[in-house]
Amino acid sequence: MSQTLDVQNICVSYGMVEAVRNVSFRVPKGSIAAIVGANGAGKSTILNALSGLRNLTGGRVCLGERDISHLPPHERVPMGLAQVPEGRRLFGRMTVAENLEIGLFGRPDGGRDRAVLDKVFDLFPRLRERAGQMAGTLSGGEQQMVAIGRAIVADPQVLLLDEPTMGLSPLLAETVLQTISAINATGVTVLLVEQNVYRALEISNHAFVLETGEIVLDGPASALMHDPRVRAAYLGQ
Ligand code: ATP
Repeated sequence: MSQTLDVQNICVSYGMVEAVRNVSFRVPKGSIAAIVGANGAGKSTILNALSGLRNLTGGRVCLGERDISHLPPHERVPMGLAQVPEGRRLFGRMTVAENLEIGLFGRPDGGRDRAVLDKVFDLFPRLRERAGQMAGTLSGGEQQMVAIGRAIVADPQVLLLDEPTMGLSPLLAETVLQTISAINATGVTVLLVEQNVYRALEISNHAFVLETGEIVLDGPASALMHDPRVRAAYLGQ
């Protein structure tokens, strides 16, 4: 199942500071979109507002036709919106399997179908071997796989990913990005914040450039890849 994510004029403030101002975009169902921007531009703030971890001070967020702006995060997950947060946020003293099982609670069926864990192990065979290992003792790349896996078991229609390759070797980063493409190929709509702007644009259909809380450029990812402003600011060319 897939769903369109529709973001309309959202604003988010931290006290007096407006970190996100009047941001609007659409991620059509089944597509991948990337948010590109410098440190502090407001990328994580947008993802956290979409998942409900941050309150909006204006605007609205719709999943398909439904306005989800005022739902708490735990009610957005069973509706099909899952987030892989920055920094993974695993339970280090629980096993890989237990961390993945937490994602089952986000399923509309209330987590009865443990067979979906196999879907994650097919995606990341390395996790099958390590199902009984404490998550805190995994390598950074393996932890990222668990964080993505935990979101996948919730059976999302829209997946939000915040810097999924942060701290990974180039090889593992590539594995993670290819897995994100593979997840998208199953029909899941993806919104990606990614430090490797070149690869992010390569795997995305659409992209938005964010500067100090506002979208300043937006278009097909292939067009942004050739835009002189993007090349100068984010691709070092
Ligand atoms: P990075 O790429 O460095 O992760 P980002 O684009 O994700 O950056 P955000 O983390 O969304 O940026 O931050 C946007 C702005 O909001 C920054 O100026 C940041 O200092 C500010 N900010 C973020 N979180 C908070 C907070 N909890 N309290 C106050 N200000 C915050």
